[in-house]
Amino acid sequence: MENTENKGYILGCQNNSDICHYRCCDQSTTTSYDFCQENAILLYPGEWEKEVKERKKHILISDDDNHTGKLGYCDKENFDQSQCNPLQNFKPLDCHSYPFFPVIADGKLKLAIDSKRCPLSKDIQQLREHYRFILNEWMRVVGNNEKVKTWIGNISLDGYEIIDNF
Ligand code: SF4
Ligand code: SF4
Repeated sequence: MENTENKGYILGCQNNSDICHYRCCDQSTTTSYDFCQENAILLYPGEWEKEVKERKKHILISDDDNHTGKLGYCDKENFDQSQCNPLQNFKPLDCHSYPFFPVIADGKLKLAIDSKRCPLSKDIQQLREHYRFILNEWMRVVGNNEKVKTWIGNISLDGYEIIDNF
């Protein structure tokens, strides 16, 4: 949940925290009744492998092979999430992207928004800059990487709506 201006949090998050309770940093463990993709950090193929061990200790893997990517959760019992800083610790692109996630639609890479769980989706104008930044990040990652492209095509997240012409 990062914005483009200060590499920090989206400004609207603080205003909405009473509603969402920062739920996007609270994922399910494998034994949770609500374990699913929507309650997990989605790691694209190769993302986990390229990070060094010390930087990713706070991310625990819950599904080692999910459409060739991985699912994980942030170990909030042992990691001070208020100090999460991508300069110091691994911050998956899914975390950076939220409430967006990439989709392939009409042969193009686009972003969909979690309109079911994130209150920011009720006023998406405030996310314009975040949208542009995150779309560029995913374009850079996808590049000519067919594996990541296929992974995106295989993920379908409940409650996400594609944003067009933003
Ligand atoms: S759920 Fe939405 S509003 Fe709440 S902290 Fe996450 S991105 Fe911000
Ligand atoms: S890595 Fe950072 S942004 Fe991602 S869930 Fe953990 S504390 Fe939140």
